Amino acid sequence: MQSNKSKVVFKDYNPKQNMLLPPSLDELIDENHSVRVVNQVIDHIDIDPLIKKFKGGGTSSYHPRLMLKVLIYGYLTNQYSSRKIEDALHQNIHFMWLSGMSYPDHNTINRFRSERLKGVLKQVFSQVVLLLVEAGHVSLKEAAYLDGTKIEANANRYTFVWGRSIKTHREKIKRQLKELWAYAESIAREELKNNEPEDFEHIDAEKVRQTIDNIDKALSGKEVDKKKKQKLNYARRNWPKNLDKYDEQEKQMGDRNSISKTDPDATFMRMKEDHMLNGQLKPAYNWQISTQEQFILGYTIHQTTTDTTTLQPHMESLEETLGQMPEILVADAGYGSEENYEYLESNGVEAFVKYNYFHKEQTKKWREDPARAENLHYNEHLDCFYCPMGQAMTFVKASTRTTTTGYKQQKHHYQAQNCTGCPMRGVCHAGKGNRTIEVSPKLMRYKSVIRQKLNSEQGKKYRSQRPVDVEAVFGIIKNNHNFRRFMLRGLDKVEIEAGLLALAHNIRKMVN
Ligand code: SF4
Repeated sequence: MQSNKSKVVFKDYNPKQNMLLPPSLDELIDENHSVRVVNQVIDHIDIDPLIKKFKGGGTSSYHPRLMLKVLIYGYLTNQYSSRKIEDALHQNIHFMWLSGMSYPDHNTINRFRSERLKGVLKQVFSQVVLLLVEAGHVSLKEAAYLDGTKIEANANRYTFVWGRSIKTHREKIKRQLKELWAYAESIAREELKNNEPEDFEHIDAEKVRQTIDNIDKALSGKEVDKKKKQKLNYARRNWPKNLDKYDEQEKQMGDRNSISKTDPDATFMRMKEDHMLNGQLKPAYNWQISTQEQFILGYTIHQTTTDTTTLQPHMESLEETLGQMPEILVADAGYGSEENYEYLESNGVEAFVKYNYFHKEQTKKWREDPARAENLHYNEHLDCFYCPMGQAMTFVKASTRTTTTGYKQQKHHYQAQNCTGCPMRGVCHAGKGNRTIEVSPKLMRYKSVIRQKLNSEQGKKYRSQRPVDVEAVFGIIKNNHNFRRFMLRGLDKVEIEAGLLALAHNIRKMVN
């Protein structure tokens, strides 16, 4: 009987088949593949500053152009670890083609990334941005969009040191040392007579060591309470050592309020934008970028949580990268401060930067709230405000407020003449006496200009473009390319990683 089943036919398969002419890697790579763009872009730029980082002598080194291409292509294809890149160099034809079949190991890759690129990657990045300008992809005459995001540091999530707790521990040592001294005096006043420390307020490890030595000598041979003896032993063993440690940690902390023990340059930040981390407190860095058409024009890494103080250093870095500041800057309310408006004005940058409550002040509830100083009418000619009852609030005094960055903000204080018995009192002013308000005339002027700009047709266009332009870039890098944690530790190295991410992003965008 004849079977209906057709004969199964397989294609030829022989992995051990020898080829007469082995194919070249170049033939196997698509004409428009991103690896070719990486190769072409890096071939176009001057890497002299990078070459200068190599000292002569010793064994030969892998060419810096090769290493740079491989690293950028690694960051472009979501391979951020040096070990993964090392593996890819042996397994992935794109990496093999790019490296010309050279196989630097993970140590070489890592050393190149964290040591050779230090201080020179920004110059490489700058050249790539200028290529983009030349090609007409971006223009310095168009708006740059600025925003920041927190990226987790490569540090243990639980080994934090808080500035506040260092102060508390220091205070505790001062108090207990004073108590020990008082106890010792109660037993050996004569012996301690000439050794009393100048004060217990300004102590350091050496002073504490000396004071405990003096107490020890004075109490030697005397009958001492067991608990006090234990306390003294503990103090001798731990307090000088701890005070040295606190000094070191405070030095590393600088103006910040926390550090991580595993990466002292990282600061504990609330990861608000990262839905995966759900607003948790993590050791992190604040990565600021400015973009145009989703190309990254400049990047900076900061150790502070707030965005306000990052604007000026970021703009300076942008000027270094582009040779000038962009003519228009668009940013959200996190950057809107008097100091920043003044800075942008003095540098000829047109600001479309929101201020706090910009959106709220457009609401009916806000506009009709008599308690808000912003809603009071100001008479520039007479330099007075009018309260909701029409009473003139006249100038009483000026004061100066110094911000954390040292900026001096002038404040003017105005006071109503008589609030007694006013029917509006409950809603307008809850305090005792006549209502006073405090305003910064300069900020008032800036806000009025910015308000008009942001509500103009151009302003509305910029406002709607901002999330699409800059916020989307963070989304692409963090969500699409899964970069959520830096691989390296320390500010300098993290800045290199941020640069590699920015370079990879720009090249990826060129390819698209
Ligand atoms: S409480 Fe004082 S400031 Fe307020 S509306 Fe009355 S008079 Fe004016």
